[in-house]
Amino acid sequence: MLNFEILKTDGLARRGRLKGTHGETETPCFMPVGTLGAVKGVTWDKVEEMGYSLVLSNVYHLYLRPGLEVLKEAGGIHRFTGWKKLILTDSGGFQVFSLGKLMEIKEEGIAFKSHIDGSKHFFTPEFVVKFEEEAGVDIGMVLDECTPYPATYEYAKHSMERTVRWALRSLEARTTDATALFAIVQGGIYEDLRLRCVEELSRLPFDGYAIGGLSVGEPKDEMYRITRLVAPQLPHDKPRYLMGVGKPEDILEAVEAGIDMFDCVIPTRNARNGTLYTSTGRINIKSAKYKKDFSPPDPECDCFTCRNYSKAYLRHLYVSGEVNAVILNTIHNLHFYGKLMERIRKSIEEGRFAQFKEEFLKNYAETE
Ligand SMILES: [Zn+2]
Repeated sequence: MLNFEILKTDGLARRGRLKGTHGETETPCFMPVGTLGAVKGVTWDKVEEMGYSLVLSNVYHLYLRPGLEVLKEAGGIHRFTGWKKLILTDSGGFQVFSLGKLMEIKEEGIAFKSHIDGSKHFFTPEFVVKFEEEAGVDIGMVLDECTPYPATYEYAKHSMERTVRWALRSLEARTTDATALFAIVQGGIYEDLRLRCVEELSRLPFDGYAIGGLSVGEPKDEMYRITRLVAPQLPHDKPRYLMGVGKPEDILEAVEAGIDMFDCVIPTRNARNGTLYTSTGRINIKSAKYKKDFSPPDPECDCFTCRNYSKAYLRHLYVSGEVNAVILNTIHNLHFYGKLMERIRKSIEEGRFAQFKEEFLKNYAETE
């Protein structure tokens, strides 16, 4: 069961609360990515301490490893992973599409070869729903056809229409409301296709709506244009999720358009590359200029890493290939994202989101 409540609006921005069987999350929220059932570099206690109560995982990856049978025998995905709060799973449509030559789309579903051992598999919309229900996830995404960028109008139209047909099949395959089901809006960068997709999906009784097919290589202004067009048209009383986005500045832009939920690998992936997000922008801890810099990565941050360690030490760990470099960088980046969302929520509550956005961006530079 999923319950969504809007507590306050500020322009199109929404301050809400999402409640499920395994807890609740304040929105707008960011979901740390735990593709294989773990957020790389941090244990669950840390994830929880940083204020996260909803994480993202992935059907494609969990299906290949450890497999549905293992998840079921363990007593479900929460028992297996040890994460007791909310879990959302992406269907894996996006991952399958990034396999390129290893996959083939048919009306029935998607045939693909495992990126691990080349074995053959077939995903249907019905199977993805079954997987999500039997694994016991809180929010499942439907299988969609993720339109790549660039795509011709004809291609985008065809794949949007198929996504709508698959969404309908997903609903028909549903056997329980214990796992909420979100639809995904496709249509590439074509406004009429996006709006038609919204219109058709809005008629169906989904628990939430996502915008997919963005952050797939299109220019930033195209992503913003489509988000600003689509988000306000989605059902007002349902959560809205912008998939795979994004950078702090993208999140601010999308919140302004009325998006409630986000996920992105960058805070965790970049932590592993030595990139830290700070109140003045990104810094690269590898840089030689930090060799004797004994100040914390972000003087404005109160995370465990910034309270206890200097840039010089973090650089030393990173260049020496120490595992703790990943752990400490990840703690900082996830804390930064958590705080950003908290400040966004507070500014909406106080009716000053636009002002907050402007101030944040004034201090924040994309590169150092
Ligand atoms: Zn920090």
